[in-house]
Amino acid sequence: MAVPFVDMNRSHDPIRAELDAAMGAVIDRNAFILGDDVEQFEADFAAYCEVEHAVGTDTGTSALELCLRAWGIGEGDEVITAPNSFIATASAIAFTGAQPVFVDIEPGTYTIDVNQIEDAITPRTKAILPVHLYGQPADMDPIMEIADKHGLKVLEDACQAHGARYKGRRCGSLGHAAAFSFYPAKNLGAFGDGGALVTNDGELAEQMRMLRNYGQEVKYHHLYLAYNRRLDTLQAAVLLTKLPHLDEWNASRREAAARYDQLLEDSPLVTPAIADYAEHVYHLYVVRCGERDVVAECLDRAGIGWGLHYPIPIHLQPAYQHLGLGPGSFPVAESACAEILSLPMFPGLTAEEVQEVAAALEYGN
Ligand SMILES: *Cc1c(COP(=O)(O)O)cnc(C)c1O
Repeated sequence: MAVPFVDMNRSHDPIRAELDAAMGAVIDRNAFILGDDVEQFEADFAAYCEVEHAVGTDTGTSALELCLRAWGIGEGDEVITAPNSFIATASAIAFTGAQPVFVDIEPGTYTIDVNQIEDAITPRTKAILPVHLYGQPADMDPIMEIADKHGLKVLEDACQAHGARYKGRRCGSLGHAAAFSFYPAKNLGAFGDGGALVTNDGELAEQMRMLRNYGQEVKYHHLYLAYNRRLDTLQAAVLLTKLPHLDEWNASRREAAARYDQLLEDSPLVTPAIADYAEHVYHLYVVRCGERDVVAECLDRAGIGWGLHYPIPIHLQPAYQHLGLGPGSFPVAESACAEILSLPMFPGLTAEEVQEVAAALEYGN
């Protein structure tokens, strides 16, 4: 039995009629830009994240970048982040003109090592951008303490952590602001691209609304130089329909993860470490293996999907060569990138399929 890496139909099929109706209603209304669906989704998503404001954007990358811009971050500034994220985390910093400054990660959770952050702070540092990688929150309390002490802003990259909790609090409510992506395969995904910034800061939310919409305060009055980075109304209608199911989908991911944990317990593969502060939502189920090529070949032979998230750390990407950071700069992140492998993970992944994956890896037969 083949097992796909992701199968979104398992989430969509049971609510397909609702999704079609929601999209049909937008088409019937001929109201495709902003409007009620976007506003309602923003209100519902803010409430879900336990914050006051959400501002929909065209992508998660835009939410990250526009927030940094709203804080006045740009040329000559530095923003601290982790080197083992999706490229967009660093790109959002770089696009403002500021420089991404990387700090190595904790080997267990793959999130930023809070004990190394203060060493990276300079007079140019303006913000910290921790990533809740794979669906597990970074250790936010010490990050907020460091930020308070040094007068820095904190922007959570929550693009993989919809619904995750840190000491009982939702990701998105922990920093001064947080960015989410609704790329289709994320824990909450649109039928195309989408994103949002969430925050308790009303002034920031107002600025974000202008920055996503041509810098416009009221129609045809433009306060800022800005592009169009709006969340599509059709995507908002899809997201509004899907949001009430997010907790049940995350529970399904957690159930599959618990099965993997159990079946792979005695294998040489290292299963995900869960911090005691974390409620993980398993955007990805990432194991660590010494002989990754051999493991990948076993999975290929059995028709099982897998992925690498991410094979090359950002500081070693050609696009970031100008930072002048060679191999050895962040040894923990580099060795993780060389050994990680993502197994199939999505809502509706069955116990039999998890068993099949473990069997292909020659465990849990
Ligand atoms: C997906 C993702 C992004 C970017 O989101 P887009 O909506 O694709 O722009 C940023 N950071 C992380 C960690 C992501 O996983």
